[in-house]
Amino acid sequence: MATIDGLPPLREVINRHDLRARKSLGQNFLMDLNLTARIARQAGDLTACDVLEVGPGPGGLTRALLHEGARHVLAVEKDPRCLPALAEISARYPGRLTVVEGDALKIDVAQYLRPPVRVVANLPYNVGTELLIRWLTPDSWPPFWESLTLMFQKEVAQRITAQPGSRAYGRLSILTQWRARARMVMEIPPAAFTPPPKVTSSVVQIERRDEMLFPADEAILTRVVAAAFGQRRKMLRASLRGLHPDIETLLESAGIRPTERAENVSIEGFCALSRALEKAAGRGG
Ligand code: SAM
Repeated sequence: MATIDGLPPLREVINRHDLRARKSLGQNFLMDLNLTARIARQAGDLTACDVLEVGPGPGGLTRALLHEGARHVLAVEKDPRCLPALAEISARYPGRLTVVEGDALKIDVAQYLRPPVRVVANLPYNVGTELLIRWLTPDSWPPFWESLTLMFQKEVAQRITAQPGSRAYGRLSILTQWRARARMVMEIPPAAFTPPPKVTSSVVQIERRDEMLFPADEAILTRVVAAAFGQRRKMLRASLRGLHPDIETLLESAGIRPTERAENVSIEGFCALSRALEKAAGRGG
């Protein structure tokens, strides 16, 4: 069967290179090149961008990114069995694909990338959330990336994009939305993968903000949110008691009822409380 880029169909690539999926590496491969093209298009115009892809596997999404015109793709893959298949893609798109073998959690990718950079990946489930948190919390802002187009389990995607008042709202929602705009853009059923995972997947589009949504000291905000959601069923006056002896007054000064629960407080509220705590600490309180 002919493919749009003249390379063999993915099923053939997988059979020829004997790429039997390994659970330990979170391997669920997307086989439909129309679907990978749709994911690549969610990332916007790639022609003037470098793209970082984590976990290219047999290269379905990689091929789509290159076909959609990405200036350059840096693909980081832990499984050496995938390298021959990726080398064939590299030969089809000379000078536009660099493959680095290794663990994305350990490799310093910045040295390989030229801005502007977009990250597009069907992430291995076992490292997806950790990578997202690292990308959202660099030493300085703005980060090396302009946008992240990432596939997660639907449940994780819901936590990233959740609004106050919902059960999914929590640390990951605030961590992401304080620094970026996040929305779910696609849902992908288990049957689209080989082997099919147990859960539905979702693609999330995250665009970085130049400025944080509301001012707050990052370390204080992180502490407040961790304490609030660490005991999310408790009232805030109880869950945040350890942060300040007069937490009730500080909550009120931030416009939050002390009897409120964490999941009903907006990011604006958490930022106001962080500023109140910072001010109180400055007064020696
Ligand atoms: N992108 C391919 C696709 O869409 O069909 C494969 C996605 S599969 C869910 C995840 C890929 O990430 C696998 O190829 C796996 O070998 C790779 N991987 C797992 N852990 C990794 C890590 N720590 N660093 C880099 N790649 C990793």
